Amino acid sequence: MGEVVGGFGGYATRRKQEGVFQYTMVADGSQGVSFDPEKLAQIPEKDRRWAWVEVDLNAIRHNIAQVRSRVGQSRRLLAVVKADAYGHGAVRVAKTALNSGADYLAVATVDEGIELREALINAPIMILAEPPASSIPLLLAYKIMPSIYTAEFAIQYAEAADSCGLKAPYHLAVNTGMNRIGVHHSEVVSFLKQVDFHRALDLKGVFTHFATADSSDDLDFRLQLNRFKEAVAAMRAAGFDPGLVHCANSAASIRYPEALFDMVRMGIVMYGYHPCPETMALVDLRPAMSVHARITDVRMLRMSEGVGYGLHYRSRGSVKTCTIPVGYADGYMRCLSGKVDVICKGQLLHQVGNICMDQAMFEVDLRTSATRERIDPQIGDEVIVMGRQGNAEITATELARIADTIEYEVCIGFSHRMPRYYV
Ligand SMILES: *Cc1c(COP(=O)(O)O)cnc(C)c1O
Repeated sequence: MGEVVGGFGGYATRRKQEGVFQYTMVADGSQGVSFDPEKLAQIPEKDRRWAWVEVDLNAIRHNIAQVRSRVGQSRRLLAVVKADAYGHGAVRVAKTALNSGADYLAVATVDEGIELREALINAPIMILAEPPASSIPLLLAYKIMPSIYTAEFAIQYAEAADSCGLKAPYHLAVNTGMNRIGVHHSEVVSFLKQVDFHRALDLKGVFTHFATADSSDDLDFRLQLNRFKEAVAAMRAAGFDPGLVHCANSAASIRYPEALFDMVRMGIVMYGYHPCPETMALVDLRPAMSVHARITDVRMLRMSEGVGYGLHYRSRGSVKTCTIPVGYADGYMRCLSGKVDVICKGQLLHQVGNICMDQAMFEVDLRTSATRERIDPQIGDEVIVMGRQGNAEITATELARIADTIEYEVCIGFSHRMPRYYV
């Protein structure tokens, strides 16, 4: 018998044996019944809780092909898979992107890079920021390129690399006006002169990031683009090879052929959303993410019965309300309460009552109507929280508008309490 590590009121015990946990239920007076951990693990996550996220990898392939057709064959495509690929799952998206013509990957943190390397991804990976110098051994061990804009980091990185006989590859971040990170555009050459003495430093690329590539007005965009071009020209004139020159995010990649240079960084377009209305006529995109649930409870409500915390919604009579196990802890934002629809059996149905942490309710009008088919959902029926079914669609764009945010935050918000399924 192993060590008892937990239990449910003495009725069941959880024992640690030979390194694996075993669950043993002790039925009254009889012999113990143990459950095979392997069999338990075979119950799919979406059969443990009826809420999940589907990611359509074909949509991602299609979107990458659309970007490719805009930017031409000669440019490299960098797939931005930060924040777990905008909530879509970094490893699966990175592998799909690399198999669909992407050459490079970008993440926001060291750990995001490590996750990709541990999934045996070999492509170049860059971090879109300068991580703490204390993470340098991880960068070298996992071959993850930092963005650099401070001399202190550059020197420490080069010395650490040199001491193990390695090169110190990096991308130089240039601030051309967004004022977030980067070496000031007029100081790029003096920065390089300051650090370049170090033989291990290996400049693989130079980049900047636009603050307004998605704005209708292009004045600030032009200013940033010109500053970037001048900085790159100054580097070349001073004898520095800039490596891969890149600046375009999704919006700039689609809208501005003059901003493509050697590589473009595609983020939101890869996931199927337009960064701005101007790109709609230029590329055809398909959203990859959809959010699904199954009904866990149904009830008929008499007139004026309330629903949910605060009972803010009151039944108008002849309605059935249904509960789904998706709430604001899953990214179904509470500020959407009463303002969104869900889709069931191809129909848009109003979400009612306050969205709870783990659950939300919607109503079904049971009266017959000339304009829609009467439906009567039951426990176990599928509901779409975001996505498409038949002619009905709820997009991240619509949820973002209601929540006063952008599609990026909506997608990333659908939390990992919901498993990702790839279709
Ligand atoms: C996030 C990010 C991108 C991708 O932006 P999208 O608008 O999603 O294309 C590109 N470059 C940098 C530096 C970023 O931080």
